[in-house]
Amino acid sequence: MTRQRILFGEQLGPLFDDDEEPILLVESLAAFRKRPTHRQKAHLYLSALRHRAAELGDRAELVRSGTFREALRGRELVAVDPPSYAARRLVRDAGAAVLPSRGFVTSEEDFAGWVRNRDERGLVMDGFYRWVREREGILMTRAGKPAGGRFSYDADNRQPPPKRQERLDLPEPWWPVEDEIDEQVRADLDRWERDGTVHLIGEDGPRRFAVTHREGRSALRRFVRDRLPSFGPYEDATLSGDWTMAHSLLSVPMNLGVLDPREVVDAALEAFADGAAPLNSVEGFVRQIVGWRDWMWHLYWHLGERYVHRDALRARHRVPDAFWELDPDAIEANCLSSVIGGVRDHGWAHHIQRLMMLGNFALERGWSPAETTAWFTGAFVDGTPWVMPTNVVGMSLHADGGVVATKPYASGGAYIDRMTDYCGGCRFDPKKRVGEDACPFTAGYWAFLDRHRERFAANPRMAQPLAGLGRLKDLDEVRDQEARRTRW
Ligand SMILES: Cc1cc2nc3c(=O)[nH]c(=O)nc-3n(C[C@H](O)[C@H](O)[C@H](O)COP(=O)(O)OP(=O)(O)OC[C@H]3O[C@@H](n4cnc5c(N)ncnc54)[C@H](O)[C@@H]3O)c2cc1C
Ligand code: SF4
Repeated sequence: MTRQRILFGEQLGPLFDDDEEPILLVESLAAFRKRPTHRQKAHLYLSALRHRAAELGDRAELVRSGTFREALRGRELVAVDPPSYAARRLVRDAGAAVLPSRGFVTSEEDFAGWVRNRDERGLVMDGFYRWVREREGILMTRAGKPAGGRFSYDADNRQPPPKRQERLDLPEPWWPVEDEIDEQVRADLDRWERDGTVHLIGEDGPRRFAVTHREGRSALRRFVRDRLPSFGPYEDATLSGDWTMAHSLLSVPMNLGVLDPREVVDAALEAFADGAAPLNSVEGFVRQIVGWRDWMWHLYWHLGERYVHRDALRARHRVPDAFWELDPDAIEANCLSSVIGGVRDHGWAHHIQRLMMLGNFALERGWSPAETTAWFTGAFVDGTPWVMPTNVVGMSLHADGGVVATKPYASGGAYIDRMTDYCGGCRFDPKKRVGEDACPFTAGYWAFLDRHRERFAANPRMAQPLAGLGRLKDLDEVRDQEARRTRW
């Protein structure tokens, strides 16, 4: 029997192939049957897989199968350790030889060395990020100091969007040109949707994300040239007429494994060295990759498979139908409705829309962490099992009691009003917490703090918000109003 290398859906680039064995690719629709999945996410996965099969030609066997387990039965296999607990069980049960995982800047072994002797409270992204910078010599001077004298340029970034502008003044991002593989994928999805084989949500649309190594490199080059210089200042800002702002749209090719994150970091560093992008933008961007992305990956393993079931705030509300159906018309709050419209159309929203609009709302309304994680995973084109739990359960919903984020990312409408142009066109008023036009974020924020005041009293970082809560004269009214609220 010839030994084959099995490549999973997150391992579709050259980084996962050492040119040693024939390749096995498995096309399984099981994931799209299990939970509602965005139509464009299904398209990207199938397109990436079939493009990889076409690139590899005779070296690859593409098997269409109900489940991965069936497809692996009776084969002799080697695997690069895959990126989920379920897939790791699968390759081990199949008796595959397993190579160390790839696709991140630091290895699991590196992280194990760093994390040794740290308890959960010592798990701080900032410390990890500095360690990676020093170890890899990223943005470090010869004297071992951070370039420009600081490890973080957050204080120079995080600017509100420019006033009286509907868009940032930047060229269009790189867009892929669809080919006959995309056409076939589209026809298959239409058919499977019609006959009920898959449960898809969201709108179809032109493919917007890279699915091959070559496409990923094109997207990266264009991002570095046109958007990276503006990335830092506007990384947290939102304009309703500009869905991409200065973001890279590279999470999809990196999570599919077609673009190596080291390549991404190197391109940004080269732009800095050439004077083509300023330090605040380059540092801010590099931190997203070698800091946040690697950090979330390592925490997925470190915090264990049960992490997704954590529910420190006892949040039990269901995710509303308007979100599962991606229906912006059922939502009155302009910020939420616009973001959900964007997710319906693209399966994507940028970080602050995910964290400070969707995540913040779910936190304040007490949505179940496990169901919210499932919703994000299905609705977002870049959602993978490893990336969601810490971003949703930890960072957004504070359901781990403060491991990933030391204080909850809860905020009222004032933050959204400062960082976006949504509030002007909204029927609610970000300054109002009581009444017909009380902003669901502003009122929701105080009601949330009130519900958890005893728990948060032990957290020194919550002292100021709790002092503000204590000064509210109309708290009883806010509490009653939010308990009865059915429209937002
Ligand atoms: C509730 C929530 C859900 C999220 N879901 C996902 C997801 O499903 N898949 C995903 O890759 N990222 C997720 N993120 C992180 C981040 O929002 C996206 O990576 C980013 O918006 C993708 O767009 P981009 O490629 O243009 O990113 P950019 O803004 O250009 O950032 C560059 C890269 O940094 C990395 N990155 C930055 N922050 C994070 C983070 N917190 N976790 C992991 N990677 C990070 C991504 O690879 C991203 O491509 C989530 C964040 C939150 C708060
Ligand atoms: S007023 Fe409140 S609900 Fe409306 S857009 Fe602003 S933050 Fe969102």
